[in-house]
Amino acid sequence: MLIVGGGCAGMSAALRLQQLLKPQLGSGRAEITVVEPQPYLTYHPLLAEVAAGSIDPRHVVVPLRRVLPDCRVLTARITRIEHAARRAWIDTAPRGERGTPTEIAYDLLVVAPGSVSRTAPVPGLAEHGLGFATVGAAVGLRNHVLEQLDLASSTRDPALRQAALTFVFVGAGYAGVGALAELEDMARYAVKGYHNLAPEDLRWVLVEATDRILPEESLDLAAHTLAELRDRSVDVRLGTTLESAVDRVMSLSDGSRFAARTLVWTAGVRPAPLLRDTDLPLDAAGRVRCLPTLQIIGPDGEPLSDAWAAGDCAAVPAAPAPSTSSVSSASSVSSATVPPVDVELCAPNALHALAQARLLAENLVAVLAGRPQRPYRPERQDCSTSLGIGRGVAHTKRGHLTGRRAWWLHRARHLQRLPSLDRRVRILTGWFLGGLFSREVVSLGSVEHPRSEFEAGFPER
Ligand SMILES: Cc1cc2nc3c(=O)[nH]c(=O)nc-3n(C[C@H](O)[C@H](O)[C@H](O)COP(=O)(O)OP(=O)(O)OC[C@H]3O[C@@H](n4cnc5c(N)ncnc54)[C@H](O)[C@@H]3O)c2cc1C
Repeated sequence: MLIVGGGCAGMSAALRLQQLLKPQLGSGRAEITVVEPQPYLTYHPLLAEVAAGSIDPRHVVVPLRRVLPDCRVLTARITRIEHAARRAWIDTAPRGERGTPTEIAYDLLVVAPGSVSRTAPVPGLAEHGLGFATVGAAVGLRNHVLEQLDLASSTRDPALRQAALTFVFVGAGYAGVGALAELEDMARYAVKGYHNLAPEDLRWVLVEATDRILPEESLDLAAHTLAELRDRSVDVRLGTTLESAVDRVMSLSDGSRFAARTLVWTAGVRPAPLLRDTDLPLDAAGRVRCLPTLQIIGPDGEPLSDAWAAGDCAAVPAAPAPSTSSVSSASSVSSATVPPVDVELCAPNALHALAQARLLAENLVAVLAGRPQRPYRPERQDCSTSLGIGRGVAHTKRGHLTGRRAWWLHRARHLQRLPSLDRRVRILTGWFLGGLFSREVVSLGSVEHPRSEFEAGFPER
């Protein structure tokens, strides 16, 4: 079996397959290869807390080789898939270097390469924008924000001070809202340590093109989160776009122009580019079309009996079509079960990715055993979001919570979902210690340029 991607969906599918196929893997009758460019899974929902310094960066990643001892983990990238020939091409060259992809054959395919940030041709964005989708980016953003406080406190130039204290986030999905709220909370705390900065000097702007925030969550949760952000004086501009960031001057579509030294781009995601280099049919948004059983729909419109997909890259119906509510056997799934193209799809979030992956593994094993598969029936989504230490918004069966109780609930839910007991314990211990001592708000920007001090010793270069 070839599993493409070792993120939420890929790793969870591999974990479950490893459990279900233990005897076959032990005897060599089955082999699972997981291909992932990073040697670890990144649990994105906790990245904002990494940026805020509440979680150690190493604790939101799960080392694949440690948790998947019965699988073959390759730190590499799939560059092409020809499913008709059951062949894929793997590039093992380190990031930034060019390699010659090698061909591998497989019998069963699991597609889970997730999504990538959606960028836009905004002038100045490539030069001044920062992303927020990796552990490195989260640590870098934390250091950058703290460096701006140092700069604003030390400079005598009022324009530079103002620009250093202005933080712009574009895109109000999970990443933008989470990162802004956690960093605002951290910076508000950090300015207490500066003799000439006050929380009111900081300006936080959230720019969103649509008329709502958190499109991945319920309207209710989004409305409560928006109210909480505005309560904290965050300048949320809905129905607005960033037109230019040239020379660090932000021009917005509502006509406003102001200087800002921090521009974080979190304007949505698009399916992994790899999908375009496969012979699997994609929907209009570029996702792999799937049945509720998570089987991929093939080029002839019929489900493939040996290929599944899950997570952000997969177009999975949010509710099973009526004809698929009864169990369907892999071999007998007919085109009648193929959902219509305008069916409502699962949102790209970690909850769906983890739940789909688990079912995917069970369905794959069911096919091997000749048993019927089950359709994906999304459970009620437990929405919550953390907005800084002791602040959050959460929905429960009984209604909505805000403040500390919502924040604890959010933490408990994500801790439970994190697919590694070891990581859960480490994060919990970190949170406990964080509650005992004051917050650590020193910038370690030099950590990102480890050679700069050494290079300064060669003045002629
Ligand atoms: C900053 C941020 C915050 C978020 N917050 C939340 C939240 O609070 N709640 C929530 O529910 N969701 C949240 N999400 C969304 C959630 O993380 C994703 O929906 C989830 O990770 C999707 O799982 P996945 O397995 O499809 O993709 P991923 O977890 O992204 O995994 C895909 C993997 O495939 C790998 N890959 C890509 N291309 C290739 C290739 N060519 N070959 C091999 N491997 C490849 C990637 O390296 C990656 O590791 C957040 C996302 C981000 C970025």
